[in-house]
Amino acid sequence: RAKAYGKSQLALYSETLQEEVNHRLTLENALSEALLRNQFELYYQPIVKVEGGTSRVIGVEALLRWWQDGTMISPDEFIPVLEESGQIVEVGEWVLREACRQVKSWHDNGLPGLRCSVNLSSRQLHEGGFAARVAAVLEETGFPASSLVLEITESLLMQDVPDTLATLRELESLGIRIALDDFGTGFSSLGYLHRYPLHIIKVDKSFITRAPDDERLGAISRAIIGLGRGLRMDVIAEGIETPEQMRFLRDEGCHYIQGYWFSRPLSADNIHPVLVSLSTLDESV
Ligand code: C2E
Ligand code: MG
Ligand code: MG
Ligand code: MG
Repeated sequence: RAKAYGKSQLALYSETLQEEVNHRLTLENALSEALLRNQFELYYQPIVKVEGGTSRVIGVEALLRWWQDGTMISPDEFIPVLEESGQIVEVGEWVLREACRQVKSWHDNGLPGLRCSVNLSSRQLHEGGFAARVAAVLEETGFPASSLVLEITESLLMQDVPDTLATLRELESLGIRIALDDFGTGFSSLGYLHRYPLHIIKVDKSFITRAPDDERLGAISRAIIGLGRGLRMDVIAEGIETPEQMRFLRDEGCHYIQGYWFSRPLSADNIHPVLVSLSTLDESV
């Protein structure tokens, strides 16, 4: 098989590989200065409780944005780089502090009890003393633990690091809720739901998006919602964009909705009026 690749092809291959490595290094270098240069910003997306024709915002998810020379770079592009280089530990702590500070100021200005969801990378949780660092940020910002939600993914649990359970229990004992994000996209071992203290399931948007007209995806969504409810967990559906999807979820008894239907993620300044308008009960859905 080696013969099939001519010399020139091999050179071409290594050139693109080299380009990739260079690109990665450039990103990594730029990212290492991003905190100091104030290039990170948090966007917020509302999480809404819909029940009996009324809808009311119950929380927001903080989503990291990176501004480089006026261009916004998507987290899917740079979070993996931060994770690989280990910088995610420092950046993640900044995210937590900034989100708590921001949502605390909304608590103090007419939106008491609003929950704040923050995404975690496994590197952060597996770093020793994580729960203590979270407690310190809560103390420093005056943010109530009962309003904090930490979002983790199945892949984090899959790594089977011995201290994971202890750390999650410590967080739970502080009064923090844990959400299992993107549920259904990983290995979805049902054992996790039993073994770990998890309070919220977020049904991945890939299921919901086509659920109303795809019977099989509909069946999967229905099963996940039933599972979560049976375990007395809150079930949040992600990526809701259309009234058909809203109707499907209402019929399946899923009451927590996040998606462009209510609002795209927006900067703190821009999301505030949206939160205020969603904070009063109305009959709009
Ligand atoms: P996620 O935690 O699952 O966040 C939900 C993603 O779905 C967000 O993408 C959000 O903008 C998008 N979304 C929300 N509603 C809709 C909708 O109706 N339709 C569609 N098509 N998409 C919708 P975003 O902001 O690009 O973030 C992507 C991922 O990056 C997040 O997925 C999360 O895994 C990661 N991420 C973002 N911020 C952080 C962070 O501070 N720390 C860590 N570790 N990861 C983060
Ligand atoms: Mg999330
Ligand atoms: Mg998600
Ligand atoms: Mg995701």
